[in-house]
Amino acid sequence: MKNLSKQQQDLSRLIDQFERVSIDEVIRKSPLAQRLIELFPSEKIEFVTSRPYPEVSGELSAGEFARSKRHLFLTEFRGQFFKRCPGAKPGLTCCNYFVLNWGQQCDMNCSYCYLQSFLNSPVLVIYSNLDQALDELRLLAKSMGHQSLRVGTGELVDSLSLDPLTLFSHQLIEFFQDHPQWTLEFKTKSDSVEQFLEQDHRGNVIVSWSINPQKVIEQEEHGTASLEKRLKAAELCLDKGFQVAFHMDPMIWHEDWRENYSALVDELTSRFRPESIPYLSLGALRFQPEQRHMMRERFGLKSWVNQAEMFTGKDGKLRYPLELRQEMFNFVLGRFKEHSPHWKVFLCMESPETWLATHQRAPQKIDSLAPLFDHKVTRSHRQSQELRAKERAT
Ligand code: SF4
Repeated sequence: MKNLSKQQQDLSRLIDQFERVSIDEVIRKSPLAQRLIELFPSEKIEFVTSRPYPEVSGELSAGEFARSKRHLFLTEFRGQFFKRCPGAKPGLTCCNYFVLNWGQQCDMNCSYCYLQSFLNSPVLVIYSNLDQALDELRLLAKSMGHQSLRVGTGELVDSLSLDPLTLFSHQLIEFFQDHPQWTLEFKTKSDSVEQFLEQDHRGNVIVSWSINPQKVIEQEEHGTASLEKRLKAAELCLDKGFQVAFHMDPMIWHEDWRENYSALVDELTSRFRPESIPYLSLGALRFQPEQRHMMRERFGLKSWVNQAEMFTGKDGKLRYPLELRQEMFNFVLGRFKEHSPHWKVFLCMESPETWLATHQRAPQKIDSLAPLFDHKVTRSHRQSQELRAKERAT
């Protein structure tokens, strides 16, 4: 392993960790299928005419969910790639952006992962027809090409952990070169960046990392890159002119949380300058009530997320009590301010009450962040979609 490049090491790890790769016959000739056929040993590959495990439907058991992370299924997406950010719901104040889901399920294994109650696919799916998503974007550019727009790829799948296999980043970065007023965001807990570092770009690609203290990573974020590896990857991206952002999310309460989160802020502020980081978001642990039993079954009561006392918020999710969230956010915000008042830190996926309690302004109200959170952009996209739907119907 030592003589392999980082990209080769990432590939080799992925090839080892997947036990089976099922390829839908209809996309057998696609470039992605051809690439995986070349990369994986033939005994791991099978060709299928329908999704594996047809007998599995509805909510997955803990075992089925764990298995789904080790079984890759390549198929095509039959539907529309673009939809609104899940944060844009009544009762939540959040960033509004477009989500491109080129797959579903994640090869990493965080104890709090919302996919546990969200997905019911017994396999990790990757769609081979990214071209169609790019066609949809091209169509969108006809009505919104002159406006700023943000596209994220990390909702149902980590943006980069599988990228050494798919190389989707290459196509996406190339596309965004032609649309410099739009922004592409990769969100990840991996350190797989080498495969795109040499790609030409126009400075409109943000690579963002979810970060936590190393103790939390070891305890709750299984199979993810260490904090050091994530920060190192962020430095590499900055060196190549990519934008870098961080999400300190989900913050998880534990006995030494103050010590560990202040050390994390100190580490970040010693390695990055506020003017190099367009934003840093904070969020606290939250999950759907129906997820709790699966989290307990899969990670046991040793997990800090299973020890916490949580209360149902207005959006139906379980969260820490408001006072505790306020204390944790104020503590971290204060620590950043001690280093510099110029850090652009805001709360995401939080209720307006928490904004008020921490004396924070919504990101849309902060001049430097407003273009990233312009709800008019999404509204206008929705209107153009509705218009197109009407045109199709007539
Ligand atoms: S990295 Fe994200 S998507 Fe993957 S398991 Fe962790 S929380 Fe879930």
